[in-house]
Amino acid sequence: MTTSEQIRQTVERNADRYQETLFRLLRQRSISAQGDGVEECASLVAETLTELGIDSRVMATAGFPVVFGEVRHPDARETLLIYGHYDVQPPEPYDAWVSPPFEPEVRNGRIYARGAGDNKGQFLAHILAYHTLVELGAAPALNMKFLIEGEEESGSTNLGGFIREHRNLIAADAVYAADGPMHPSGRPVVFFGLRGMLTVEVRVRGANRDLHSGNFGGPVPNGIWRMVDLLQSMRDDEGRVLIDGFYDDVAGPTAFEQGLLDAIPFDEEAVKENLAIAYFDGPPEAGYYEKLMFYPTLNLQGIGGGYVGPGKKSVIPSECIARLECRLVPNQTPDSVFRAIERHIHYRIPDAVVTAVEGTLPSKTSPELPYSRAVVRSVGEAFGVDPVVMPLLGASGPNFLFTDELGLPAVWTTYANADEDNHAPNENISVDAFKRGIVASARLLTDLAASGALKDRGDT
Ligand SMILES: [Zn+2]
Repeated sequence: MTTSEQIRQTVERNADRYQETLFRLLRQRSISAQGDGVEECASLVAETLTELGIDSRVMATAGFPVVFGEVRHPDARETLLIYGHYDVQPPEPYDAWVSPPFEPEVRNGRIYARGAGDNKGQFLAHILAYHTLVELGAAPALNMKFLIEGEEESGSTNLGGFIREHRNLIAADAVYAADGPMHPSGRPVVFFGLRGMLTVEVRVRGANRDLHSGNFGGPVPNGIWRMVDLLQSMRDDEGRVLIDGFYDDVAGPTAFEQGLLDAIPFDEEAVKENLAIAYFDGPPEAGYYEKLMFYPTLNLQGIGGGYVGPGKKSVIPSECIARLECRLVPNQTPDSVFRAIERHIHYRIPDAVVTAVEGTLPSKTSPELPYSRAVVRSVGEAFGVDPVVMPLLGASGPNFLFTDELGLPAVWTTYANADEDNHAPNENISVDAFKRGIVASARLLTDLAASGALKDRGDT
C-alpha cells in the first residue's frame, strides 16, 4: 500500500505546480453576495478538475452553478462524495489588505488571498490528493464524486434543491469535507455535525397606539412590559428554558461522545478573561462544550420598542418586537420547537403575533463509525498531531442535507491554520497546511479504498 512518506514526497515534488493551481483559482473573483465573477469561477473549477483527470461539468441551479466532478475506478465498491465551495466572502474593506485580495502572494510561509482558506485551498486539497495518488500509480479503488457549490457564503440557498433534483447523480456511501480553521492549539479539528437553528419573531401589543404616559399612565398596559414579562417566563434563574416541551426531543451525548467532550482542551479562566465575563450562562449542570453541542439555546437576537433617542419622549409604547433564536441539537426539529414556543406565548398572550423566520435541522454522524475513525486517523497522521475531535460544532449549516436528506454519514475536518482570518482582510492559508491537507486527503482515500470502511456502519 502507498505509504504516507511516498505521498508526502510526491506532494513536495509537485508543490510549486500545486500552488500555482491554487493561485489560478484565487485570482478568479467569486463573490456570491455581489454576484461578482461566480460563473467564471465555476468554469475555472471545472477546467481544473478536468485537467487533473476528473470528469467534470458546470451544472445550473436556481442560483449560482454547482461544479460536479466524478472519477470511477473499475474495482471500486464504494463511493465518497466530497463537498466544498468555490464562492468567497466580500473582501471589503480593500485597504485593510496588505496585498490585494485577488492577487495571491506568499509572505512568511503563508498564501494570502480571499478564499485561500475558505474554501479554495481546502477543497482543492482533495482534488490534488487524487492527482497525487494517480501520479504515484496508486489511484484508490474508490469512486469519487465532487460537489463544489457557489452559494455557501450566501446561505447555500439552492443546494437543497440541487441535491433533491440530482439525487441519483450524487448518490454515495459517505460525505467528506474540509472547511474552517484549526483549533487555536494548532491541531486540526474533525467534527461530525452541526447544530440546527430556528429564528422566531414575536410581536406584543399594549394599547392599539402609543399613548401619553401621563394622561393614560397607570391603567393602560405597556407593550414592552408585556414582552419583558413574557420573556421572563421563558427561563429560570439559572438559565434553564421553562418552555413546556422545549427539551423533549434532545438526545444528549452518548458515552463515547461524552469522552470526546471531556478530551477537548478547555481553559475556563482564559475563556472568561478573554470575553470579560464572570460566569457561564445556561444550566449549571452541563459543561461548556456540552452546552455548546448538546443543549439547545434560547438566545435573544434583539428587542425593539419605545423610544431611547435624543431628548425624551413621555410615552406608553404600544408595540414591542423581539427576535428569539434557538440553536437546535440532535434530535430536535425547528417545527416542534416552534410549536412549543408558540404554545407558551399564546397561553400567556393570546393576541401575540408569533412567526417562524427561518429553520435549519441539526445534523450528526456517529464518531464511532469505521469511516469516522478513518478520518481522525488520516488527518492525525498527515498533520503529525492528534486532531481535536468534536461531536458537533455549535454553528449551523446545510450539513443536514447530507445526513438527513441523503441519509449519509458526513464527516468534516479543517485544513486551514487557526488564524486563517476567513471572512476577514488578509485571509491566508499556510503553505504547510495546504500541503498537509493534500496528504491527509490522499491518506484517507487510500485507507478507505483498502478498508472498505465507507459502507461499514459498524456495530454502533
Ligand atoms: Zn466562509
